[in-house]
Amino acid sequence: MQTESGQQNSQWRCRKCGALLGVADDDHVEIRYKTAVYRVRGELATDCRKCGTANFVDTRNVQPRRERRCA
Ligand SMILES: [Zn+2]
Repeated sequence: MQTESGQQNSQWRCRKCGALLGVADDDHVEIRYKTAVYRVRGELATDCRKCGTANFVDTRNVQPRRERRCA
């Protein structure tokens, strides 16, 4: 298990080459491209910048906490 000191965010990496695609933070994934920062929630797909492999993530699975529904 890989741990990085001082960082609790989980990294979203390419399933093939391991290139960093984004950082999962709470209920969203943060993606940086040049000077722009994108924060996305829900289902997300991207092609790896290095190897072109399609990667998928669902930020609802990243979130460890349970969502509460209004009863
Ligand atoms: Zn890749």
